[in-house]
Amino acid sequence: MPLGISRKAAGIAPSATLALNARVAAMKASGEKVIGFASGEPDFDTPVAIRDAMKAALDSGKTRYTAASGAPELRNAIKDKLKRENGLDYDISQIVVSNGAKHSIFNAFFALLNDGDEVIIPTPCWVSYPEMVRMCGGVPVFAQTTEEDNFVLKPSHIEAAITEKTKVFMLTSPSNPNGSCWGVEDLQALADLAVKHDFYIMTDEIYEHLLYNGEKNISIASFGEKVKERTITINGVSKTYAMTGFRIGYAAGPKDVMNAIAACQSQATSNPNTPSQYAVVKALTMDQGSVEVMRKAFMERRDVLVEGLNAIDGISCLKPDGAFYVMMNVKKLIGKKKNGLAIDSCSTFAQQLLEHEKVAVVPGAEFHAPGFCRLTYALSMEELLDGVKRIRAFAESLT
Ligand code: PMP
Ligand code: GLU
Repeated sequence: MPLGISRKAAGIAPSATLALNARVAAMKASGEKVIGFASGEPDFDTPVAIRDAMKAALDSGKTRYTAASGAPELRNAIKDKLKRENGLDYDISQIVVSNGAKHSIFNAFFALLNDGDEVIIPTPCWVSYPEMVRMCGGVPVFAQTTEEDNFVLKPSHIEAAITEKTKVFMLTSPSNPNGSCWGVEDLQALADLAVKHDFYIMTDEIYEHLLYNGEKNISIASFGEKVKERTITINGVSKTYAMTGFRIGYAAGPKDVMNAIAACQSQATSNPNTPSQYAVVKALTMDQGSVEVMRKAFMERRDVLVEGLNAIDGISCLKPDGAFYVMMNVKKLIGKKKNGLAIDSCSTFAQQLLEHEKVAVVPGAEFHAPGFCRLTYALSMEELLDGVKRIRAFAESLT
């Protein structure tokens, strides 16, 4: 048998967002003054009460394995959270805690997909969904949304993407990378189609608390029993509580699906980090004031960033209602030159912006959104303003 990696692994691209985050961190470590609009992680410190809970967990001996699907205390706290905030009733046997929401999503695809099964993914989409689908033998089916439609997929476009092989629809609201939010009518239309055509909805609600339109997140699983039977709700603490390094996410869904996820996780990874789980119990049960403080800070930065970018000739962006990302439309600058080099794509734009102005943004091509670059506003106001100034200087230097 010849040596070598599997066909399954060979085609998988590394995460472009994580690669760029690592590059920016290395540039900063070597003393370069980079402005990082690339990293999709809150820049705030994890709230003190959560850090204290982690220390207390260590000191009280919470250093051993828990149940593979997560400590009962945590699954109970998640059960209460889902009831309180999302109007969802689940037994703790229907909840599995994993190593971040990313792992929860992977587990769910692994449990649901047979070779060739299709997953409809609205684009622009987060980098990891298509690769996870492929790792699990599935086929990503991309359904393009437009800026004109606020990056929300119209029911007729959902319908056009459905085939006999459709197994899952990937819903992300608020969205990474574009911050768009699905309204109640959009969600109802998707729910009706899932029941009519019998497919699952995987709803990634990790940005549920980062909403700026005065509304509350609506969980699609709350639209009735038939929808709930077909929905896997994904969530985590990375974004809401600035806990990216704790690596805790979770999934809740129908019994048979969650049993399969639990079995697979018990063989593949066992439980996620035990002290982290107890820190998350604290996060979910403490006073939620710090969440609101962070949300307000993000909203202020969003407003400044959107205004700053829209004031630059050749650049525009929508004002998103959620998450901490904007999609900067650079289509008018593509075709121009930087020092004689053609800016022929959003990827070249991003490369040249990093090289000349030390500003890191993620090219939209990574999210199936050519002509755009994704910027996060999870950075200080001071850096953000400096970054906008540099982007302006770069845009003005193009000929
Ligand atoms: N879903 C979306 C849309 C995300 O942006 C992220 C952030 N990387 C995740 C899931 C995963 O987050 P984590 O694994 O840190 O919980
Ligand atoms: N979700 C974040 C991002 O999109 C973190 C990096 C990742 O996991 O992709 O930048």
